[in-house]
Amino acid sequence: MNPFEELEVDIILSGKCCYCGACGAFCKYGYIRYEDEKPVAGSCEHCGTCYDVCPVNYFSVPKTEIEIFGERRRDEIVGYYREILSARATDDAIRSVSQDGGAVTAILTYMLENGVVDSAVVAGRDEFWNPVPIVATNKEDLLTSTGSKYTQCPILLGVKKAIDMGRESIAMVGLPCHVKAIRNAQKNEFELGKVKIVLGLFCMETFSRDSFKRKLEEIGVKIEDVEKFDIKKGKLMVWVKEEVKTIPLKELRDAERIACKFCDDFTAEFADISFGSVGSEDGWTTMIVRSEKGEEIVRGAVEQGYLEVQSISNVEAIRKLASRKKGKIVKIV
Ligand SMILES: Cc1cc2nc3c(=O)[nH]c(=O)nc-3n(C[C@H](O)[C@H](O)[C@H](O)COP(=O)(O)OP(=O)(O)OC[C@H]3O[C@@H](n4cnc5c(N)ncnc54)[C@H](O)[C@@H]3O)c2cc1C
Ligand code: SF4
Ligand code: SF4
Ligand code: SF4
Repeated sequence: MNPFEELEVDIILSGKCCYCGACGAFCKYGYIRYEDEKPVAGSCEHCGTCYDVCPVNYFSVPKTEIEIFGERRRDEIVGYYREILSARATDDAIRSVSQDGGAVTAILTYMLENGVVDSAVVAGRDEFWNPVPIVATNKEDLLTSTGSKYTQCPILLGVKKAIDMGRESIAMVGLPCHVKAIRNAQKNEFELGKVKIVLGLFCMETFSRDSFKRKLEEIGVKIEDVEKFDIKKGKLMVWVKEEVKTIPLKELRDAERIACKFCDDFTAEFADISFGSVGSEDGWTTMIVRSEKGEEIVRGAVEQGYLEVQSISNVEAIRKLASRKKGKIVKIV
């Protein structure tokens, strides 16, 4: 068997592939493409890279923590961190289109406008809410990417695109599985020193595109009419023409990606900074500042007036969801 066939047997055919895009991004021969959110390879030169970068196949918690943070975690549930805060964009234009407080977009805007990075890889979307990795270079690009898409985006393909475009200093936003993929890839031979900062999002699950669309149709919603999605208090909330429809998450279980049932990272434990909604008041984003680099960037964004921060109201709520996700995996395995 060649390494891609091993990846197929160990990860892809069993449904554990999270469609992060890393194998396709970093096969230097360009043999891997994606069909129905799954990788397929036309040929193989046996280099083994796809097998090595796959975050579902391999991920070392201790090695990554030492490399990124310089020491091991003291908190088993939330991972290594320096500070947990609530934050929001100071700019109304960002806050009005963002998922929560717009902290992610405010920090990316600060970094692009102050030369901290020259590009940001984020998840845009088409009219059917299919996420598409895009390389943003200014605030206008970023404003097209705000808000949560609850199906998978092969973000690592966006990182490859940014490198191919000659970008030298890249920020990446991703779910915990994307963050693990970039950390694995950074240990490999690519030009990944160019990825200067990794922003992670909290994540409990994503859904398969076709099943998600079907579930919406069952409640009479065409996906192209949706203005915003959110998940709160055990329900998917769907904004359509000033009406908010809901689907209990338990009715969406069969639409959840199989990979998510094996994932134990809720808070993007290996990002420089992680973001979510739980723990903060409405209109604010919860922010876990993890690395020294992350801390510097938050300080810069606050000093330059892009971001405001306040102390967080409910850290226990984050802990509860993170523990639940770790508990879920223990029950399945
Ligand atoms: C699939 C998913 C599940 C989530 N689950 C939870 C949860 O259970 N609990 C919780 O507290 N928070 C969860 N979050 C995080 C939360 O929804 C917000 O993303 C976070 O609070 C940041 O808000 P913001 O207003 O600062 O972000 P914005 O300023 O609106 O920026 C959002 C950023 O998210 C990126 N993005 C959107 N969708 C995706 C995607 N599918 N893949 C990769 N990047 C994406 C965009 O590129 C953009 O940069 C989830 C997010 C996603 C995408
Ligand atoms: S050439 Fe390397 S990266 Fe590409 S499919 Fe084969 S083993 Fe995987
Ligand atoms: S999880 Fe990512 S790297 Fe692994 S097989 Fe799927 S797309 Fe490729
Ligand atoms: S639950 Fe895990 S595998 Fe699934 S999308 Fe979220 S981070 Fe990725």
